[in-house]
Formats: sequence, C-alpha cells, structure tokens
Amino acid sequence: MNVADSELVMGILKNKGYRITEVAEEANVILLNTCSIRENAEVRIHGRLGNLKKLKENRADTVIGVLGCMAERLRKRLMDEQKMVDLVVGPDEYRRLPEFIDNAFTGEKGIGVKLSRTETYDDIEPFREEGISAWISIMRGCNNFCSYCVVPYTRGRERSVDLESVVADVKKLSERGFREITLLGQNVNSYNSEGNDFADLLASCAVIDRSMRIRFSTSHPKDISEKLLQTIADHENICNYIHLPVQSGSNKVLDEMKRTYTIEHYNSIIDKAKELIPNVSFSTDIIAGFPNESDEDHDATLEVIKRSRFNGAYMFKYSPREGTKAYNLEDNVSEAIKTKRLSEIIDLQHKISFENNQELIGKEQILLVEGSSKKSDQFLAGRTDSNKVAIFPYSEDAGVGSYVKVKINRATSATLFADLIEIVLPGNEKINLTA
Ligand code: SAH
Ligand code: SF4
Repeated sequence: MNVADSELVMGILKNKGYRITEVAEEANVILLNTCSIRENAEVRIHGRLGNLKKLKENRADTVIGVLGCMAERLRKRLMDEQKMVDLVVGPDEYRRLPEFIDNAFTGEKGIGVKLSRTETYDDIEPFREEGISAWISIMRGCNNFCSYCVVPYTRGRERSVDLESVVADVKKLSERGFREITLLGQNVNSYNSEGNDFADLLASCAVIDRSMRIRFSTSHPKDISEKLLQTIADHENICNYIHLPVQSGSNKVLDEMKRTYTIEHYNSIIDKAKELIPNVSFSTDIIAGFPNESDEDHDATLEVIKRSRFNGAYMFKYSPREGTKAYNLEDNVSEAIKTKRLSEIIDLQHKISFENNQELIGKEQILLVEGSSKKSDQFLAGRTDSNKVAIFPYSEDAGVGSYVKVKINRATSATLFADLIEIVLPGNEKINLTA
C-alpha cells in the first residue's frame, strides 16, 4: 500500500515538473513514506532520519519530509524531535505537497495532517515505472477499528474509488503492456461504488484484458461473500489466491481483537472457497502474544494454521500502539513467550509451505514470467496463479510478461524449480476477448 502511495506522490510531483533521482545526495527534496503498523517500522524511520541529518548538515537547502502514517500519528511531535524535518504530511494531504515543498524552500516548515472522508485521488495518475505488475488502490482508510490497529487513526475512514476510475486505470495499464494488477484496500470486501460491490469491480476488471492477471488484497473474513468467491471461480484471470488474515485461532482473542468473526466462521469461508474455486489457496496474517493470550489460545492458532494449510503467512509479535483500544490492556505476554510462540508459528508455517510445495512436484503450472532469477541470469523466474515463485532454465522465447507452462521438478518451502514445457502466450500478445 505504501508503494502505491509513493507512486501517487511521485505522480503529483511529476505533474509539477519534479524528476526522480535514486541518489539522496543529489536530491533537492527527500521524502520518506512511513508506516506505523508496528513499533519496529517506526524505529527504522528514526534510523533513516538519523542518516539524513548528516546530509542536511552538508546541504542545508535540501528539503526533508516525512509522509504517511507516522506523519499522521506523530504530527508536530515528529518535527520537534527531528529538527531537520521540514514537512510532515499525512495520507490525505498529498495534493498539497507541492505547496508545502515550495514553502520549505523559503524556510517555512509545514504540517498537513487533516484526514478526509472523501479524498481518493482518483483524478491523479500514479507514476509507475515500466513493468508487468502494478498496484491500484481501490479504497482508502478503514472503518473496522480492530483493537490493536493504528490504521483507522492514521488513514481515516473508509472510502472507495469510483468503479469507472479503477476500470479506466486497468485499461491504460493493459495498453501499456502490464500483465498483472493487484487491487488494494485494507478491506476490499467492503468496497462500494454506487451500489457496485467488490465482486462487481473484480468482474469489471477481469473482462478488460483476459491476458492480465487480477489479484487483490486484503480480504477481511467478516464480510467475504459467496458472490465474491463465485466471481473468482467464474473468471480464469482472477487469481485463485486469497489473502485472508486470521490473526488468531482463539475465539476469546478474536473477540478481544474486535475482529467480529469466530474461528468457526473463518473455517467455513475456507471450506466454501475450496468448494467453489478449484485449486484455491490462501495466505494469512497472524499476531502472536496479544494481551492475555494463553497457551491454549496459542495452540488454537497453531490448529488453524494446520487446518487451513496456508501457502504463506505474515507473522508478527503483538506491538502495542498508542491510541488503540488494546493499548489500554496490559501487554502481559512476556517478550520471551512472544518470541517462543512466534517461532513455533513460523516453524509450523514453513513446514506446511514446504509440504504444499512438495505436492506440486511432477505437476504442471502456468507462470507469468517476471525476468531473470535473483541468483543467476541462466534462470528465469515467474509466478504461479497461487503467487508462488518458480525458477526455470533460461529460454529466449520466454520473455518478460509471457505466460509459460512448466513442470515442477523440485521445491523448497519458498521456491519451486521447474522445466519449461511450452510458451502459452508470448509477452507482447494478448488474448482477444471476443475470440
Ligand atoms: N487490513 C488488513 C491488515 C492491515 S495491517 C486486515 O485487516 O487484514 C497488516 C497486518 O499487520 C495485520 O493483518 C496484522 O496481522 C498486523 N498488525 C496490525 N497491527 C498490529 C500490531 N499492533 N501488532 C502486531 N501486528 C499488527
Ligand atoms: Fe487494521 Fe483491522 Fe482495519 Fe485491517 S481491518 S486495517 S487490521 S483496523
């Protein structure tokens, strides 16, 4: 989401004539787009600002700005603590960035942290490098107020981008040769644009270009609908892959987290999805060590991991966030126990990812080719529909953006290794919708 927001900010600034440089020492303006979701994310930004202090000492006219959730959360405090910061701008005030930057060049500091109920930036084209994968923000903010989470406070109330605007964006990206888009929102299932729900939006995007894969994130388990699952099943180019954060396997903890679903409901969604969508797979988010989490609660989390057999998971230790409801609860699971529980969760998930991948050996998969593998240009890397990375020997015909059929011959918990069988669709060809 922050990458998408940075592209938006670059879009706004490019419209004003700014250019992007990769070299901090050459920049007239340095903007850090920040995250507040866990304390660690903020600690890293403080470290970065520490490094920029030297740069500012050598070049006093460099404008340094902090954007995003940390700007929204800390506001003036951030400026008071970090003297070299010239501007602090939250997620709903990016339109005013050019004005803030102009003022900063004349030595005036600026803070813009008003949250909006309507801002979706839908008239602004984000700056996207050439490539095959793009993010599209389809909504901003969140109304859910999970008790541990800072997002509703730093990104404001939920609002959806118009369906027509998202569709126009997908069309443009298709014309530019993009092959995969990921629709982004904190809770895409509650998307609503003039009566169109998320399933309607997905279907409208899927028919634009059948050679474009459609992904989405994040689905909140409380309002995933059968219509949505059916829509995923009905369109071959909507990936059969659902990121469905469970957070905990214990109903007691889920209740205290204010997630508003039970583990039985969560399991029923997984079962329904498996029934409706052939080869569907899931990933999840898990928090270890929420206040009052007992050994039994933790065991219930291990249970849901075993039952769901996720393809992957983002796994975190609970991090108390000031201003949230859970902040008032005592953070009473010791650091040692949090560490132990998290490593049990990670070990179990790795084992399951490994087993899931082993099951693919000998099977054929369709990959979207992304380019050379990270380790060697003798190999190409692509992604399966289920978002797994697969590596196969270089072939001139398998250009970036092409779809290839491969056969998996080996697998670790993180990577599949494959042999190329055939090119299904070259990178520069599209499937004709009416064919
Ligand atoms: N909107 C998405 C999640 C956005 S935040 C959803 O509801 O699923 C991404 C993940 O960060 C969350 O799913 C949660 O697992 C984790 N997270 C959020 N706040 C946290 C906190 N205070 N401590 C630890 N992990 C947290
Ligand atoms: Fe945070 Fe919950 Fe909203 Fe996700 S749904 S962003 S976890 S408040």
